[in-house]
Amino acid sequence: MTERLLLHTCCAPCGIAVIDELRKSYDLSVLFYNPNIFPEEEYLKRKREVVRVCGEWDIPMIDADYEPDAWGEAIRGLESEPEGGRRCPVCFRSRLFRSAEIAADRGFPVFATTLTSGRNKRDDVISPIGDAAAAKVGVRFLAEDWKKGGRQEAARKMVCERGIYRQDYCGCRYSLAERGS
Ligand code: SF4
Repeated sequence: MTERLLLHTCCAPCGIAVIDELRKSYDLSVLFYNPNIFPEEEYLKRKREVVRVCGEWDIPMIDADYEPDAWGEAIRGLESEPEGGRRCPVCFRSRLFRSAEIAADRGFPVFATTLTSGRNKRDDVISPIGDAAAAKVGVRFLAEDWKKGGRQEAARKMVCERGIYRQDYCGCRYSLAERGS
């Protein structure tokens, strides 16, 4: 029997090639849990594109609650950190620990995240957080640097072919300000 895997997906451009790869070897479901995204219209826009990608391959998607206040609490005191600084591991942690809980609650033995697809996202920072989140609830974390193995190029092509929205900032209000809007 094919193993069930829950894939935490941060956005369609980061997720599409990973979804396409994992759907071939797992009984795949996608989870959208990204309370870091600001503003809410942007959150809805990114979510809509993930729904569209899942629809193309008939992948079930779990739409978790939008909890920006809880996320704001988690990163309190780190607001002025630059992107890539001390705020980001806390952000990853808030998303991955909740994702692992949802995986355990819904009977997925393994979970993964598309976060390592991001150009500036370090696998050596993200994967240990995924491992710790999985260990806490008794599931496994599939650690992988999804930037590697030609996946970034594949994703770029797939996004382009489908006209998928690609954001130009990481997600939170601080990365939006840093981008300079
Ligand atoms: S810059 Fe990105 S990873 Fe870092 S805290 Fe903001 S949304 Fe999270």
